[in-house]
Amino acid sequence: MGSRPPDDLRKKLEDRLHFYDDLRLGPYFRDRMPAETPDAALRGKKTGSESAVAPKAAATSGTAPPPVVAAKARDAAPARTPQTAFLPLVQAPSLFDSAERIAGDTLEAIRADIGDCTRCRLHQQRNKIVFGDGNGKASLVFVGEGPGHDEDMQGIPFVGRAGQLLTQMIDAMGLRREDVYICNIVKCRPPENRLPEKDEIGTCSPFLLRQIGVIGPKVIVCLGNVAAQTLLGTHKSISQYRGQWFDYRGARMIATYHPAYLLRNPAAKADVWVDLKKVMVELGLPLNRTRR
Ligand code: URA
Repeated sequence: MGSRPPDDLRKKLEDRLHFYDDLRLGPYFRDRMPAETPDAALRGKKTGSESAVAPKAAATSGTAPPPVVAAKARDAAPARTPQTAFLPLVQAPSLFDSAERIAGDTLEAIRADIGDCTRCRLHQQRNKIVFGDGNGKASLVFVGEGPGHDEDMQGIPFVGRAGQLLTQMIDAMGLRREDVYICNIVKCRPPENRLPEKDEIGTCSPFLLRQIGVIGPKVIVCLGNVAAQTLLGTHKSISQYRGQWFDYRGARMIATYHPAYLLRNPAAKADVWVDLKKVMVELGLPLNRTRR
């Protein structure tokens, strides 16, 4: 037999790597420095049976980790290794800048402007541009970090395991995916699931800002550090302002943990559910109804 693994083993290995991909674990198992203190929170846990955030969150609300635990995972700066020890320095226009909106802008025009984009290096390995998905007039917009493997294959944001959890979170709010708009800071998959780099964010995020400008949501939810830091124009870790409201041009913005982080740290679902309930109140959604 040659060095190539048999097809079924190869398939299993690929599936396992995609699973790590969904958990956004790539940077950890590839880049972790020997000197780094091992931290169970950073280890991939089998989470295939995760259910909706709300019921679990309620059930685990007494056991949620303090923010410092969250700060050690991917959503916080201290977890990065020396090569990637910094979070992207935000050079993209902040949503708090007073940039004018483009008159008559539409999602179609933005997609057309993006075209078959080669503006940054992310185009080299991408399969599909992941523009955004959902209701173009949504009151609620979720902003993630960037496509993973499944999103890159399908051209739709949040369709992998983290996406399934996000869909459950939306469902727990009494909404459907079609009611909201879902998009990312960068529209092409960063290779090996690394964090998007500052120039990539700077190149891509203006399109996102246009999308948000066209949609005009009441509430924007930043999922994870990259989205929060980019849109808020800050370098601070999300654990310092998670669950707090910010204003932007009549929209309210809140940051919460990324679903991929919740796959690794299910106890943090309690914190996210607290945040999502704030969003529900802001949108006038009933708290005691989880389905329509
Ligand atoms: N994680 C993200 O941040 N975005 C996606 O689209 C999928 C996973």
